[in-house]
Amino acid sequence: MNLKDDPFLKISNSILNPHITEWQKYNKKIIGHYCTYIPEELLYAADLFPFRIRATGHEDTTLADTYMVRFTCSFVRASLDMALRGIYDFLDALLVCNSCDHSRRMFELFDLKVFRRKGFTKQVPRFYIAMPHVITDEGFEWYKREIEELKENLEENFIKRSITDEDLRSSIEIYNKNRALLRKIHELRIIDAPKLTGTEALQISMANASVPKGIANNELRRIFNFLKEKEGIKTEAKRIMIIGSEVDDINFIKLIEDSGAILVSDFLCFGTRNILDDVKLENRNTLLDSIIKRVYYRTSCPRMMDDHIRRLEFLKNEIKNAQIEGVILQRINNCDLYGCENMMLVHELKELNIPILNVDREFYQADTTRLQTRIEAFIEMIS
Ligand code: SF4
Repeated sequence: MNLKDDPFLKISNSILNPHITEWQKYNKKIIGHYCTYIPEELLYAADLFPFRIRATGHEDTTLADTYMVRFTCSFVRASLDMALRGIYDFLDALLVCNSCDHSRRMFELFDLKVFRRKGFTKQVPRFYIAMPHVITDEGFEWYKREIEELKENLEENFIKRSITDEDLRSSIEIYNKNRALLRKIHELRIIDAPKLTGTEALQISMANASVPKGIANNELRRIFNFLKEKEGIKTEAKRIMIIGSEVDDINFIKLIEDSGAILVSDFLCFGTRNILDDVKLENRNTLLDSIIKRVYYRTSCPRMMDDHIRRLEFLKNEIKNAQIEGVILQRINNCDLYGCENMMLVHELKELNIPILNVDREFYQADTTRLQTRIEAFIEMIS
């Protein structure tokens, strides 16, 4: 079997997949969300299927462009465009947090123009989580209150039952297992002869975000066992790490790997950043507190202020452990979070003497020739 033909990986190629239909067959609900700062364990404990919204393969933003100026991130516009075309009508609810201003406005438009539009029959509840931008104990209390309110709201208005400790415990176990499996697969990616390409790793991560985690765990176990026995990829390709804005477009990763590189690690929200930290069960915390703590204190993304040094330390270690030969920093045009973060990294990673390419791009494939030329030149330059 070739991993690229694996049915689980193929789930990443489209938005709809058979697990969505299967879930809905039992009248169970699906909740769309945008960001890794959402406590998925809580949703899963409520017997909801948290579906991570993506815009894979969608290159048209014409409908979204009538509501959002082109200054807005093209990932956000592409996903809004899909929603306006009805592609996300299978969602029963939407949960968004203030990750960045672009996604915040997306929430309002999704709500006004999709959920309330004429002919859309579902009564879609929408939840908005306001999260502090700093990691402090006071900030934690704020975020905790938001999530407690979300839980009450779900119980009273959406699922009409209580979420028990047993529900939470079982969900935590499933999610911790899920991250542990993804970390084991990641270990097979950073070794001398990687067992999988960066394209395959991203496909696994995207598929994992698009199916209920109970099912994903069985698939990941199977894939890990297959990879463990498989021969590693012996290649002269340069070992590259990719960092930056949202990537859910396989073609972008393929473009890099087709230019003489192999992506052996990343720091992306559809990637390693989301699998580093687990929910820790401690007697002094309630189960819900433990879930909230993981989300709030975990290895952060640049939406969190004053935590850049922690992210930098992770990157330096990962560059060493994965024997990275070059770093690609990429930013979707007008993504201000990664605009600043990537520029800081350009300076701070210099002390490692590692070649760095800093590129701006659109979410979808645009100006591919220019991008490809720059990436090829960069890879060639790495001695
Ligand atoms: S890529 Fe940047 S601008 Fe776009 S949604 Fe993510 S953080 Fe926001």
